[in-house]
Amino acid sequence: MTATYNEPALSFDELTLHLIASGVIKLYEKVKDGAAPTLPYPKELQRGLDRLVLSCLRQAENPPQGVPDLLAWCQKPLSNWPIKLSEDADTANKLLDDQIPTGICDEWAIASGDVEAEAIQKQLLLNVMQVCKSDDAPDAYVAFRRLLISQPVLTEFELLQHCLNDSLQILEAQIKTAYELVPESCAVNGQLHCCSNCGNIMLRTVKGDLICAEDRCRTQGFKVGRQVSQKEGVLWLKRGPRRFVAAPGRAELRLADKLEELELEVKLWPNFDSYDLRIVFPDGDAWAIDVKDWKDPFLLARKVKQQEPPIPSDPPWTQAYFVFPDDRKQQRSDYKRAFCNHTRLPKQIKAKFEKELIKDVKRKLEDPSSRS
Ligand SMILES: [Zn+2]
Repeated sequence: MTATYNEPALSFDELTLHLIASGVIKLYEKVKDGAAPTLPYPKELQRGLDRLVLSCLRQAENPPQGVPDLLAWCQKPLSNWPIKLSEDADTANKLLDDQIPTGICDEWAIASGDVEAEAIQKQLLLNVMQVCKSDDAPDAYVAFRRLLISQPVLTEFELLQHCLNDSLQILEAQIKTAYELVPESCAVNGQLHCCSNCGNIMLRTVKGDLICAEDRCRTQGFKVGRQVSQKEGVLWLKRGPRRFVAAPGRAELRLADKLEELELEVKLWPNFDSYDLRIVFPDGDAWAIDVKDWKDPFLLARKVKQQEPPIPSDPPWTQAYFVFPDDRKQQRSDYKRAFCNHTRLPKQIKAKFEKELIKDVKRKLEDPSSRS
């Protein structure tokens, strides 16, 4: 990686929200097997609560009465909280959806510092990169990412089969590290259910209903897809690789397919993930594409600002893009404006939705001066 990271400071209330979101995720990881939350609560949750109480008292608002009450607050939209956030922040959303952390909760948790999930996936990818570099096997790196994206759920037997695959053999240990057993609490009569849209395991609500772990699927509607017997030993991606590799990866692979259909030369994660996609036109021009799939454009902009350069120039490119999945625009019509408002991109880097990028690509392909 050629990029370096600078951490911008969070405001008082932003840090409060970051601590609460991190604490909520830690607590969820502890209780996902069906255990009741036990004391002590994660320290982030307590610290976040103390700060929130202070903000409430300053504004003569009733503060939450302890952690259980705070968790009830987390089920309300952030606009109901007496905290001051940027007007471009996504306050229509809440941190918990029926006791399951939302995408926004994840994004606030990584707004500052390394939360556990992010640290684990960084370490995992670094490890994979080292193995592939020392074996001079960049294809294994790509195969590893493709596996995580396309197979978020595997039986123990399927996992072993993948480890025997030529391109993945050298990464057996890392593949095993990326997955863990599905929590018992997800099973219904010994059967586990996967989401037909994203392939993840479906979780059970307190009432016993099945819902997808991804909140995008929950808002778009989803169906139960594959069913697997718990007896087969069912593995699921750990939270870190699921959130940071597989979730954005679905948009990366979708875009790669669309670009390949246009008969461009497409390379995924070139130079061990300098950026997501590199496309080469018939005239030799190369574009770099980094797909960003965040719910809150304000938090995404903060993350992008921490990265210098925004998109590394090795391998080289003449034009670069941050690309957002099209449905982010339906969720929020001013998504791009809010993102650009908080980032200062150099003019060779554009911010576009998937469809707009495809249009730019087609325009360039039709331009007679760009033919080889
Ligand atoms: Zn899903």
